[in-house]
Amino acid sequence: MSNAKQTKRVTPGSRETLLHMLETLPDAVFVVDDTEAIIYANASARTLSGTTREEACGTSLWCGALHLVSPSLYQAVHKAKETREPTEVTYVSPATNRWLHVSLSPTDEGLALFFHEQLEPLPLQHALSQNEHLYRDLLDSVGDGVMIVTPEGLVLDINQLSLADAHLQWEVVVGTPLTDLPAWSSDSVVQEHLRTAIARAARGETVRFEAKIHPRTDLSLDILMTITALRDASQQVEYLICAGRDITERKHAEDELRVLIDAIPQLVWMARPDGSREYSNRRWCDYTDMTSEQYQGDGWLQAIHPDDQQHVLEVWQRAVQTDGPYETELRLRQGTTGAYRWFLVRAMQHKDDQGTTLKWFGTCTDIDDQKQAEQRLKASEENWRVLAETVPQLVWTARPDGGLDYVNQRCRDLAQTDAEHLQGDGWSQFVHPEDLERVLALWRHAFATGESFESEHRLKDCRTGAYRWFLVRAMPMRDETGQTVKWFGTGTDIEDRKRIEEALRQSQERASTLMDSNIIGIFATEGEQIVDANDTLLRMTGYTREDLRAGRINWMSMTAPEYLARTRQAQQELATQQYLTPYEKEYVCKDGSRLPVLVGRVALQHHSSQAIAFVLDNSARKELEQRKDAFISTASHELKTPLTAMKLQAILLHRQLAKQGLQASAPTLSSMETQIIKVTRLVEELLDVSKIQADRLEYLQETVGLDALLHEVVDTMQPIHATHTIVVRGAAPCSLVGDKDRLGQVFINLISNAIKYSPGAETVEIDLSASEETVAVRVHDHGLGIPRAQCDKIFERFYRATDPNQKAIPGLGMGLYIVAEIVRHHGGTLTVESEVGKGSTFTVTLPCKRGARADGAHATRVI
Ligand code: ADP
Repeated sequence: MSNAKQTKRVTPGSRETLLHMLETLPDAVFVVDDTEAIIYANASARTLSGTTREEACGTSLWCGALHLVSPSLYQAVHKAKETREPTEVTYVSPATNRWLHVSLSPTDEGLALFFHEQLEPLPLQHALSQNEHLYRDLLDSVGDGVMIVTPEGLVLDINQLSLADAHLQWEVVVGTPLTDLPAWSSDSVVQEHLRTAIARAARGETVRFEAKIHPRTDLSLDILMTITALRDASQQVEYLICAGRDITERKHAEDELRVLIDAIPQLVWMARPDGSREYSNRRWCDYTDMTSEQYQGDGWLQAIHPDDQQHVLEVWQRAVQTDGPYETELRLRQGTTGAYRWFLVRAMQHKDDQGTTLKWFGTCTDIDDQKQAEQRLKASEENWRVLAETVPQLVWTARPDGGLDYVNQRCRDLAQTDAEHLQGDGWSQFVHPEDLERVLALWRHAFATGESFESEHRLKDCRTGAYRWFLVRAMPMRDETGQTVKWFGTGTDIEDRKRIEEALRQSQERASTLMDSNIIGIFATEGEQIVDANDTLLRMTGYTREDLRAGRINWMSMTAPEYLARTRQAQQELATQQYLTPYEKEYVCKDGSRLPVLVGRVALQHHSSQAIAFVLDNSARKELEQRKDAFISTASHELKTPLTAMKLQAILLHRQLAKQGLQASAPTLSSMETQIIKVTRLVEELLDVSKIQADRLEYLQETVGLDALLHEVVDTMQPIHATHTIVVRGAAPCSLVGDKDRLGQVFINLISNAIKYSPGAETVEIDLSASEETVAVRVHDHGLGIPRAQCDKIFERFYRATDPNQKAIPGLGMGLYIVAEIVRHHGGTLTVESEVGKGSTFTVTLPCKRGARADGAHATRVI
């Protein structure tokens, strides 16, 4: 190799003697200029270096004297040049393995080097020799290829490993530029890389890089090259140590790893220790649509959303600088669509045994769906809050440990306190003391088991101080691992429901008490079928529960035949007004016996075909009534005979006294007779009532002229009732067939009542009218009148109006009962119109033209 630099030649002349002397010296002498180019080499030097004079001159010492080159010499040359002081160095020639002692003397133009070969090391040099050996041993024993090069890149020394790889000799290599070694020169890119690295290292920088080299054609190695500058005492870069570590296996492993990484369905990347992106897997490239050239170094940042770039870069640089963990969330651009998706990016260092970071491994996990879900959750949480504040319920949330962490305004209103006082377990002070233990136990159980919570308990409404019932429910919300992350709870005011429930419970209790009582028979009907009945009804009727279940009880079939008409009428009433005024009837029991009952019924509001009926055993009352009727009948019979006797005797006495002229006693006797007549009338009425009851009232069948009959009645009554004028208006020129006395009794009764119940009035009017078929008699008074509600009842047996003014007027409530019965018997009707305080009108309508003559010649009595 030749040095292109212009060098001076030392020519014989004035210094000829000196040169001659030098030529004869047994020691090798080199004179070099400032650039370390050889300007003179004596014969011994030429022998030692194996070059001719021509070859030696002009070449670099480090190329021209290969056998002598060593880092120690290099170091010494630099020291001498620097200090301009003579110096010495002793070392073992790597070429000859001989000890060399070199004296270096600075000259005007450069440096003179005197090489003295020693066979045995001098005692003085002993320690030094050990160091030199150590150096060589070290150099050859290290596992890396080591080259010592000048700052210009010339090889000063090279260890055996590097030589063996390249199949080269030390002598061939030393003095040549490192970049020209086959390992580097075979690839111009790698060669340029090395050249740049040496230049940087020559400036004092430690440079590290990876390269694929080819020490020989059949060998390619991946090496991690580290070039370190070594400085002298004045901090000048003296020479460079290039250590090339064989990382072929690691690279191979890395290649395999890359294949693996490419197969990972995730975005994966690798970065160098300085943070520059080295590799991104296929998935990453596909996603970002970036090539390896584009993402290299800091290129990958272009794939990140502009808004995230600054932050990501800061976090990444901090991680690289502090060698700490790296984790961030960022939006990565989808190369083909330009759309951004959220990713979680994490990276970890791969370190060597000494803990030095060799590489960063990073992953990008697509969390876009999660992010979107988070955003939706956030939005839905906001919605939820709005909802929670607007619903009419108490709404709250609790942490997984059960402590409240949110309450809505309604909770705060109820407790009349702020949210802080309700948080944790602050809410418990508002629970009714009687419910608290139960509620706490339920709550503890719920959050221990993760089951939902439900409780009905009382909470204090601090606005009123009263407790109200609430239905409180809570559900746990779980994450994907099933862990409870929150409890959502509501409280619904059920105070009204509770009240209704209580009322219902009480009414059910009352109903069941009634049902279970022995007093009243109760049954439920569906149409004519009895579908349910209490024990009392079954006992009354003799049916069994089995009969009931088998559908063998039908209330219509149970009704005694003579009550069927009344029952149908009752059924009609039920259909129109949903309930039935209790009425008397008789049931035919299972054994055929008769049971007098009082029955009432109510239809179910929403199921008109269904009804509930109650049945009272009426037999005791009926029996009593019969006995009473029998008594009245007997008593009135018993009374009638002596009364008739008394009446006759009074009349006889009256006549006798009149004959004897004893007129003084006449009024007393008349009054006696009047009272006897009144009592007789009462007794007769009692007898009539008894007969009606027993259906044994007798009637004559005769032709009655109504006009005549009425005038007769009025003529008889007017003298006795001086207080009122009885006015008869109109006429009824027709006759009918009936019992004249009984019809007379009808009009006497109505006119008597009209007079009796109009104490302040002066007249009673009787209007007669007739049509083709009927004749109507209206008895009108201006008296007390009858309340509307009682108008129907006055025709019942023994009924008297309840008004105190009317009650003050004596009577037994039999008259209208008998009148109604007589009119009914004659096929007529009896109605009343009345207004309290104004008067009443009783109208009797009778059918006429019943095919009989009005003279009454043929009278027959009917029963
Ligand atoms: P009493 O013997 O009580 O008069 P009634 O059967 O004749 O019995 O009448 C029944 C009831 O009807 C009476 O108690 C009375 O309250 C009422 N009443 C009957 N007629 C009249 C009338 N003209 N004016 C007002 N009330 C009457």
